[in-house]
Amino acid sequence: MNNSRGTKNKPEKKTPQKNKKKTTEKKVRNHKYIFVVGGVMSGVGKGVASSSIGLILKARGFKVTAIKIDPYINVDAGTMNPTEHGEVFVLDSGLETDQDMGNYERFLNTTLSGKNYMTTGSVYLSVIQKERNLEYKGKNVEVVPDIPLEAIRNIEQASEDADADITIIEIGGTVGEYQNILFLEAARMMKTKYPDDVAVVLVSYLPVPSSVGEMKTKPTQHAARTLNSAGVFADIILARSSVPLDDKRKEKIATFCNVKKEHVISAPNVHSIYDVPTNFERDNLGSILSHVLHLKNGQKTDLSQFEAFAKRGKTSKKKVTIGVVGKYFNSGEFVLSDVYISVIEAIKFSAYHHGAQPEIVYLSARDFEKPGTLKKLATYDGIIVPGGFGSTGIEGKINVIKYLRTHNIPYLGLCYGMQLMVIEYARNVLKIKDATTREINPKGKHLVIDVMHDQKDKIARAQYGGTMRLGSYPAKLKKGSHTHSLYKRHAIQERHRHRYEVNPEYVEQLESAGLVFSGRSPDGVLMEIAELPKNDHPFFIATQFHPEFLARPLDPHPLFTGFVEASLKRKRKRTS
Ligand code: GLN
Repeated sequence: MNNSRGTKNKPEKKTPQKNKKKTTEKKVRNHKYIFVVGGVMSGVGKGVASSSIGLILKARGFKVTAIKIDPYINVDAGTMNPTEHGEVFVLDSGLETDQDMGNYERFLNTTLSGKNYMTTGSVYLSVIQKERNLEYKGKNVEVVPDIPLEAIRNIEQASEDADADITIIEIGGTVGEYQNILFLEAARMMKTKYPDDVAVVLVSYLPVPSSVGEMKTKPTQHAARTLNSAGVFADIILARSSVPLDDKRKEKIATFCNVKKEHVISAPNVHSIYDVPTNFERDNLGSILSHVLHLKNGQKTDLSQFEAFAKRGKTSKKKVTIGVVGKYFNSGEFVLSDVYISVIEAIKFSAYHHGAQPEIVYLSARDFEKPGTLKKLATYDGIIVPGGFGSTGIEGKINVIKYLRTHNIPYLGLCYGMQLMVIEYARNVLKIKDATTREINPKGKHLVIDVMHDQKDKIARAQYGGTMRLGSYPAKLKKGSHTHSLYKRHAIQERHRHRYEVNPEYVEQLESAGLVFSGRSPDGVLMEIAELPKNDHPFFIATQFHPEFLARPLDPHPLFTGFVEASLKRKRKRTS
């Protein structure tokens, strides 16, 4: 992160390292920490609130980093079903994390380290490993204080590594749950250790029941008390609601929750999550936090760049209709778009860049298994097949890709979307009718998508957690390819999350039939991007990696930007 003011809060002078321990302690003490906890219920936007707090402080000239603590036993988010937990966001390091990490990276326009994410499972695991290695020197290791102490060590380390002035720590779940109590204990211990350097923000929810027609503060009062019973006291309450808070409600919360009235921030529903920082600033959140944390050298919050981006989101008039063909949309009666959140945000950034408003439609892959359903695709300007696992809806996705290829409709395939594009090409162009992937049919005769050798062993031993090809890898682009013209670079670095690959045995055949592998690993062995040249198709590109993880509001991803451009072109043609 480039930040002109970021150095001001560092220790005055780097003294020679004679007493290393002392130096570290001093440096740690100079960090500021903001714990963000949730009250009343989940899903009220704690992640966006944390990201917005970070952005506001960054916009005041501080160097900010953000940590998420998830109260699950899962060591990482990789083994959780997306319909249970939403998208799995992958960091450069390869750590599979919660989607909130994506929000932090996007709002802060930064790259976060694997140290910035922990779960109950990962904290216990490291404590147990240390105990086994005799690192506790024969001491009795206990849940309290050793688990919170380990969390604190991680928080301090992540802050050190990021060289941050301020670290935001979002504690997952809601206060009053049994699950996150050890992390609230960590917050309590840190506040006791650094009373002037720790702030606690409670993100609460104020319902407006239709039967009453009035905003109710009682659930928030209960949440604040529950937090107090853990020994933690909110400095600031972010009051989420469908409408803005009035003065009376602010007063009530102040009185019953023991915070200053001006520390109650109104956080009504807004048009887009990118309006949230500006909204918080209306109630002076930046200067209140600066005051609570005794921050010196803060400048006035300058959100101009971000606001210009958010404004584009609102003022863009053109429409572009993008279909996303997936399988993780349904949860009972509800549609879950959270599963593809990074893809959706990436589409938005590129659409806004082109002055367009995306209309994103979720299409269930299974619907395209039946004949006669494909014509519907012609009503879209562009289609994305995002990442996925297993066999549900696979034949539907392959039918979709064939239709897009043969009808010149822009297509962007992400990960599974590339593997299925290769299968489709093998089946319908190379005429290998039973071409498939080992993931669906391990006994298949023509495995155009297969596993790498090291993966075979892991699958045989059922070692699934954290063992895919994960994180950032380099690739080389083919000069003159469509992809190269979009990136305008020869060497790229992108984030991966997959177990299967294009089988090198089929590469030559596929290429001689017209499919171009325009991105490869530097040793040339792994196929990272497949495309049809621009002369043959307006946009038919798919990647083995996930470009969506690197798309940022202020830095849209070139592949999404190219895809939206092609979709807008199609729209113009369709409607003229
Ligand atoms: N299921 C495929 C694999 O494991 C694709 C994964 C993905 O789309 N993220 O290789």
